[in-house]
Order: sequence, then C-alpha cells, then structure tokens
Amino acid sequence: MGLFNNIQETIGRTPLVKINHHPFKERAQIFAKLEYMNPGGSVKDRLGKKLLEEALRTKKISPKGTLIEPTAGNTGIGLALAAIHTDVKVICVVPEKFSIEKQMLMKALGAQVIHTPTEKGMEGAIEKAKQLAAEIPDSHIPLQFENEVNPLTYYETLGPEIVKELDGKVDIFIAGAGSGGTFTGTARFLKEFNKHIKTVIVEPQGSILNGGVPGPHKTEGIGMEFIPSFINPDYFDKIYTISDEEAFYQVKQLARLEGMLVGSSSGAAFAAALKEAENTTKEGANIIVIFPDSSERYLSKNIYEF
Ligand code: PMP
Repeated sequence: MGLFNNIQETIGRTPLVKINHHPFKERAQIFAKLEYMNPGGSVKDRLGKKLLEEALRTKKISPKGTLIEPTAGNTGIGLALAAIHTDVKVICVVPEKFSIEKQMLMKALGAQVIHTPTEKGMEGAIEKAKQLAAEIPDSHIPLQFENEVNPLTYYETLGPEIVKELDGKVDIFIAGAGSGGTFTGTARFLKEFNKHIKTVIVEPQGSILNGGVPGPHKTEGIGMEFIPSFINPDYFDKIYTISDEEAFYQVKQLARLEGMLVGSSSGAAFAAALKEAENTTKEGANIIVIFPDSSERYLSKNIYEF
C-alpha cells in the first residue's frame, strides 16, 4: 500500500473482493467493491474530498469559509474528513431519523450537526441548509442532489478502478441510489467503456424511482423522495426495488458467510446482485456490486436483529 502523507490520500484505496458463497456460482461470479474501507467508512469520502476541492477551486468559499450540506450522514462524514488540515468549517443538516453513530462521527471530525424533523425528510434538510446559508457569510451548499461533481467523482474514480481491477471483464454493474451520484457516474463510465455492460440501479421499497409510492423504510442511505437532476434513465438497464426484510437478511448472510460487515444499502444491492446472478444468460458473467458502508454505524439500530 505504501506510505501516505495524510489520511485523505488513502481515500479510494478500496478492495474488490469475490463473494465465495452464493447459490448461483455456476452461472456468475459476484465481486463486491468494499467502499466501507475508505478512511471515513463510506463511498461518500470520495465525494466529500471532491466537493471541498471544487468549492475552494471555484472560489465558492474562501479558505476560511463554511460548507453546509444536507446529508443522511455519510456525505457529511466525507466532507468533515476532507476539511481536516484546512480552516474550512462544515455544518451537516441531518434529518433526525438517521443513525446516531453517523452523527457522532461527523462531530468527532469537527463538524457541527443540525437536526431537522424526520417527517420533513431530505427536503426539510435542504430547506434548512438554504436558510443557514443565507445567514452565514462566506458559506456555500455543495448540494449533492444537484451538483454534477457528485456523479463526476465516481466517473473519475470508481468506474476506472472497476475496469482496471477486472481487466475490463465487466458484465453487470449494480449499485443502490440515494442521490444517485455513485450509480450515475460509474454507470456512465462503464457504458462508455463498453456499451454492452448491463447497469442495474437499486432502491428500497418506499422510494419513487420505479414509480412507487413514497414511504418510510429502514434501509439507510438509499431511496429517493424526489428525482435528483442528474439522474439519467438512459443508464438504467434495470431497476430493483428491494424490501427492508430482504436487505437486512442479506446483511446477516454477508456477515456470517463472507465476513463482510456491511450496512443495509449493501444488503439491498447484494439482494439485487443475486437476482442478476440467477437470471443472467451469459455464462460466467462478472457481476460487480458496491458495498457503500459498514454495519458498525447501525449497531444502535440492531442491524443484525432485524
Ligand atoms: N448507501 C449509503 C449507506 C449511503 O450513505 C449512500 C449515500 N447517501 C448511498 C448508499 C447512495 O449513494 P448515492 O447518494 O451516490 O446514490
């Protein structure tokens, strides 16, 4: 791995690991990109770093400015981590329902956490962030739900990494979507690399992407109450809507069978990967699935007792 000059340099050094126990091994190989092995513990460390760099580069804030972001937690942790060694302040606006561990980690990294009511969802957090930005001088809201830097981050990093790690032999790519940045950026890179790669997007029940009715869900980090501006249906070869039961069941299976301690959005993505493995017509297909974060940040929610 080598020697690093600071913690931010370790962002994105995540392994792609083969899943050894699944019922469709004769048909397909499944590989998981373990994004929970980023230093802040999630796929969103990549985004935090890039959003901070962009805000400074485009002079949205001065080097002593404030970034305010509505977040379920992981983007907030990513921003707070990126801001270490700088004078930039980070305020995370978080709907109350999201896990306490993520909020503790944001604070540990020096960010300020402001709550908004659960019933108002992410839209309530966005509204509050806008209000704060109007009051705080030298502040900026990167706004992951509208910011093209979000998909671009994954277009520039995850996509090329996956192609390199599998020597180009990628057949099916699967990722859950909250803002949709991870999926959209990676899927665009993969389609440009080889238009025959199938790209599969995953949402929880209670998300509206596939025309469903908005509603509560326990799967954390994915699901849409509104469609972010950069979402492009050209990249959805397939959408899976996964129940909380199925996602949490796979979380338990991944721990026991693979030693992978993942959060519920990884469980949902893996449930979709198994369906693809079962149904693929290409013998020996290589399926790549993103595991965005770890179960350790949901232990207070009894993730293994669901
Ligand atoms: N899983 C988890 C645990 C997350 O925190 C996020 C980001 N909210 C995602 C998946 C989805 O990532 P994206 O916003 O890029 O769609």
